[in-house]
Amino acid sequence: MNNTTKKTTYILAGWLIDGSGGRIRKKSLLKLVDGQIIEISNYGNEPVEISDLSHCTILPPLIDSHVHLFMSGTLNKIHRKNQLVANFDDIKNVISRHMNNHLAYGILAVRDAGDAAGHALRYKNQCLDGDIIPVILKAAGKAWHRKGRYGKLIGRSPSENETLASAIANDHSPVDHIKIVNSGLNSLTQYGKETPPQFERKEMKDAVCHAEKAGLKVMVHTNGKIPVNISIHSGCHSIEHGFFMGRENLIHLAEKNIFWVPTAITMKAYTEYSGKKYSKKETGVPEKNLIHQLKQMAMAKKYGVRIALGTDSGSIGVHHGKAVIGEIKLLMEAGYSTAEAVMCATYNGSKLLDIDTMGLIAEGRQATFIAVKGNPSEFPDNLNHIESIYINGRPLDG
Ligand SMILES: [Zn+2]
Repeated sequence: MNNTTKKTTYILAGWLIDGSGGRIRKKSLLKLVDGQIIEISNYGNEPVEISDLSHCTILPPLIDSHVHLFMSGTLNKIHRKNQLVANFDDIKNVISRHMNNHLAYGILAVRDAGDAAGHALRYKNQCLDGDIIPVILKAAGKAWHRKGRYGKLIGRSPSENETLASAIANDHSPVDHIKIVNSGLNSLTQYGKETPPQFERKEMKDAVCHAEKAGLKVMVHTNGKIPVNISIHSGCHSIEHGFFMGRENLIHLAEKNIFWVPTAITMKAYTEYSGKKYSKKETGVPEKNLIHQLKQMAMAKKYGVRIALGTDSGSIGVHHGKAVIGEIKLLMEAGYSTAEAVMCATYNGSKLLDIDTMGLIAEGRQATFIAVKGNPSEFPDNLNHIESIYINGRPLDG
């Protein structure tokens, strides 16, 4: 004899943002069988025993599609310098702390965009225990950049006798995706300055082709019209940053259904911290960069570009976990509704990272979601105090 009775439970949500970008529902009753959502209906005081989240808004777990776990957002120059050269034994505790920071803000998946030693990837394979920190980590390992160009802090270059494609093909690290650097950094001192691409169209195309053969997606750090254009036409899967890419490229992104990860919060952080005299150069350029990026984000909405939220946490003043609140606010400042901003931070990220256990709260899906106190007008500030996190129908702390 075995007991095959399935357990039925009910959850009452005050407000439901389902991740699809559609309308926010009030007083929804979720009927679960063994942790799976069987039915979502309007609550009419049914005589059932419920887990009462009527004081909360529920939404899918957040996904940060661009982080650097080996670095903190600290402004302390000595700490930053030390983290850049730290060995694995020292940095693994820092990475654990950052993963817990993500969890505290309801982020249950992150995509790491690389570090020179491949620490985040090694952490994933040697240290991460999903029962202790239930945050999915997708890691690029070491990024790829052209020798002599920007990218040394987060990656390596193909050797003398290798092309970018053959370097990718010859590397057998157990990475989740490939990260390529295909421009310089966005300038903080010269407004709108564009840098040349690191790799030309054919090199990029071949590289993406090799990655795809290995079943891997390609994320490309790239800013400026020409580098972004080359990257888009390589067939890559996401454009990271994309500062000053321009209207044409946004239209191409929409046509080719490529994700964009704007990381606008980096410029907001520089704007705030240059005010605190972190940098001696008081240029006002970061703020102008931010305003320009917000305009591009508004255009992206108009053209139907799919944005996946990413923060570039680990950059100066961009803190793991907390930064997601800032990036959501910037999406809303650019004209995205609460539901649309949530979609960028949930559903779109799940598609980009290929995580099908997250992204939507819908019938047939597992009941994996976060609950934050208050109505949707209190979002995203209420992410500062997550009420509860449910995974497969069970509260994490239950
Ligand atoms: Zn980055």
